[in-house]
Order: sequence, then C-alpha cells, then structure tokens
Amino acid sequence: MEVKDQDLAKLVKTIAEKLIAETSEPAPAPKDEVTVLTEKAKKAQEIWHSQFNIAQKSAVIAKLRADLRPHVEELAEMAWKETKMGRLEDKIAKKIVAIEKTPGPEWFTTKATSGDNGLVLEELSPFGVIASICPSTNPVASIINNTICMISGGNAIVFAPHPGAVKCTQKAVEIVMKSLKESGAPDGLVSALQNVSLDAMNALMTHPNVNMISATGGPGVVKAALQSGKPAIGAGPGNPPVVVDETADLAKAAVDIIKGSSFDNNLQCIAEKEIIAVNCIADELKEHMLKNGAFEVKDPAKIEELLKLTLVKGKPNRDFVGRNAQVILEKIGYKVGANIRIILVETDEMHPFAQEEMLMPILPLIRAADFNEALAMAKRLEHGFRHSACIHSKNVDNMSRMAREMQTTMFVKNSASLASIGVGGDCPTAFTIATATGQGPTTPASFCRVRRCVLHGSFRII
Ligand code: NAD
Repeated sequence: MEVKDQDLAKLVKTIAEKLIAETSEPAPAPKDEVTVLTEKAKKAQEIWHSQFNIAQKSAVIAKLRADLRPHVEELAEMAWKETKMGRLEDKIAKKIVAIEKTPGPEWFTTKATSGDNGLVLEELSPFGVIASICPSTNPVASIINNTICMISGGNAIVFAPHPGAVKCTQKAVEIVMKSLKESGAPDGLVSALQNVSLDAMNALMTHPNVNMISATGGPGVVKAALQSGKPAIGAGPGNPPVVVDETADLAKAAVDIIKGSSFDNNLQCIAEKEIIAVNCIADELKEHMLKNGAFEVKDPAKIEELLKLTLVKGKPNRDFVGRNAQVILEKIGYKVGANIRIILVETDEMHPFAQEEMLMPILPLIRAADFNEALAMAKRLEHGFRHSACIHSKNVDNMSRMAREMQTTMFVKNSASLASIGVGGDCPTAFTIATATGQGPTTPASFCRVRRCVLHGSFRII
C-alpha cells in the first residue's frame, strides 16, 4: 500500500499529541499570594545570607535608613489618617527613633571559648523567612524597626499588615523595597501581603516556607503565633502601672507621667496605664498633673458616662482608642483646650479603667495606704503580662524591690515610660517587645538562632 507524505505527517502529529496528553502533568493551579511571596522570600534570603557580607549588609541598611528619613512626615500622616488614632507629632517621633535607634548588623558579637581541647565558636545565624504580623497602633514604626532588625540578622520578611492600617503599611514596605532594590539586595527580601484577611495571616503563619513568626499585637495574635508550631516572637499586650511613693520628686513625676501616658494618645503598649499613688502625696501629685496637661473628671455621673462611652461589652470602644482627650471629653460635655492631653479619673483598683488596657488618654489614679500596698496593687493590675512598669521614687529599696518583684520586661525608674524604647532614653529602640516569649525588647539577635562550631585540637594560642 502506498502511503502519501501528507497522511504520514497527519499520523505522526496525532501520535505525538496523544503521547504528550498521556505523559504531561495537568496545568498547575495559580499560586496563592502567600506561596508566591514566601517562595520569593526564601530564594532572596539564601542570597542575602550567603552572598552579602557584614559590610555589604551594613551599607544596604545605612542606605535604607537614609531613604526612609525623607518619608517620615508623609508616612506619619498616612498612618494617622488611616487608623484615625494617635497624634501626628508623636507618630513622626516614633518613626525617627525607629530609623535612628534600631540596632543593625553591628549588634552581633561572636562568643569564643578556648580550652585544652581547642576552640569553640558560637555565632548567631538567621532563621530564614520571617512572617511578621503588625499592629494597628504602630503600623509604620513596626515595619521600620522590624525590617532593620530582621534583615540585619540575615532574614527575609513577609509582613502581614493590620486590616486597619493596610495602606500606610504597604506604602512603608514599598519605600523599603525600592531602597533595597537600588542597593542591589535580592528581590523579595522584604514584602507585604496585598490581600489582608485573618485567613491570609493564618496561611502565612503556617506556610512551610516560613521559618519564624513575629507577632506584635493583642492576645489573639500571640496565641495564634504560639500555636503555629514554629519558633515565635510573641509581643503581647500590657497594662503598665506607675507607682509614685512619698519620696518622689512630684513635679517631675507629674510631667513624666503625662509625657509617657499621653504620647500618641496612650497607644503604646509600654505607656503608663494607671497611677498608683501613696495616699499622703496623691493630692500634691494631682495638683502638679492638673497644671501640666491633665483634666480631672470628678463628677461620679460623668465618670459613669465616660465609662459607657469608652467601654463596649467590657472592651475598649474602637471609636475612642487613640483619640485626643479633647475629643473624648467633648462627648461627655466638657469643652477643653488642645493643651489637655490626659483625662484623670480617681478610681479604685477594680474599676475597668484600671483593669483594662484602654489604649486611650484616660488615666485612673488609685490611692494606696503605703508603698507595700501600692506594689501589691501594681502586681495585680499588670495581670502577669510581664510587660512594663514604672516607679517615681528616691528610695533605693523601693525601686529595687519593685524592679525585682514586678518581673516586667521593661522597668523605668524616674522617667517617662518612653525612655525604655529610646525616646529620651539611651537604649536602642524596639517596637516589638517580646513579653510572652521572653526575648525582651527585640534586637537583630532576637531573630537569630545560636550555632556552635567546635575545632578540636588546635587554635589555642597559649
Ligand atoms: P490586634 O491584636 O488587633 O492586631 C494585631 C495583628 O494581629 C493584626 O495584624 C491582626 O489582624 C492580627 N490578628 C489578630 N488576631 C489574630 C488571630 N487570631 N490570628 C491571626 N492574626 C490575628 O492588635 P492592635 O489593636 O493592632 O494592637 C494593640 C495591641 O497590641 C495592644 O494589646 C498592645 O499592647 C499590643 N502591642 C504590643 C506590642 C509589644 O511590643 N509587646 C507592640 C505594639 C502593640
């Protein structure tokens, strides 16, 4: 039988098509955003860790700090407008300390031990890809602080923005990404989810490409991070008490307490949330506070009105979280000037204003008979969060005892709480304060693991 060229070609084509159909895989499903970002982050991290030495990493981070600086005002305004919380000038101050005082690659040291058998080196090494869950209270400052710390440690990051602060978070990450790209850092080293939901955050936390979780926020997110089964930084809530005893410089204590508790309208987790004053100096302390930006609500009916306004089903009313004292007071019928930064209310220990982390400029003052009672109250009101506490005192025994017994991560003596995050204090800045998991105010070392290298039989020089 004669086979025509045309028929032969047709036959070959049919067989080839059949073979391809039988052997090829079905078309892959489009990858979800979490997978795409974490895959890119994983590749970028390998390059960042293996191909960029300390000097190169330092240069990238120095440029990043410089590139962020001109955007501080713009980012602060975006965060302030989007979240409708806090104070613009304080949001600016937070970003400046995050840029200037977050430690970088210079933070690392090597631990070397030598003995008869040789040399042991211990160094810090990155975890890999970090899922960083951000709060609404410091959306941009957390991005800046976490980025510098985490990439200094050789890690890559995928940020999960807070649903109430998506635009400002994404803008901050965009600026970070642009700077890193210009420095030649690998693409995908830092990114943020565009589709923000609780499901996406949980998918990110449990994704196999993610090696560590950093969760900054309330109890829900810390619990979710700890349940993920991965190494986690849990930076949870606080309810910091400030104790004022009879030896304190009361004029200074009043100014410091107002400065710390009204900063960004009390959104800071470290901020003074209740004053416990020894009875014999409580009136004088109040007088100083009233002269320095506090307004006292004394009428019991008005206090009740304030409570109903600001607490819904026992939890702080989101409409008033981080709002100015002036705005809150106006709602209960008081017209005050913009110089008023704090609403002072005398309460007992069990009052919700003292018990709840209100995150608004309402500061309860509770009287204690003496320092012993004040300390006992402070411990109960801190609820075991081990977060932050302050004291104003000149009695060294009281200061030392409170520092020891509170067991808080941050403890400030004779200054505003802000000193502990580097605002008016000498310490480095941290906007992720690992309370629940114990790493403390985070630094580049918090996002690294310890590795030991043993060289047996040599390199001892004596
Ligand atoms: P939040 O708990 O509402 O949100 C934090 C983040 O966690 C958000 O991105 C949110 O979407 C996510 N989230 C919440 N529950 C989750 C869950 N179950 N699973 C997955 N993701 C979840 O916090 P906020 O209101 O934005 O911030 C205020 C709280 O954060 C306060 O309690 C404050 O004390 C605390 N905080 C702590 C620190 C610290 O360093 N320790 C710093 C800032 C804020």
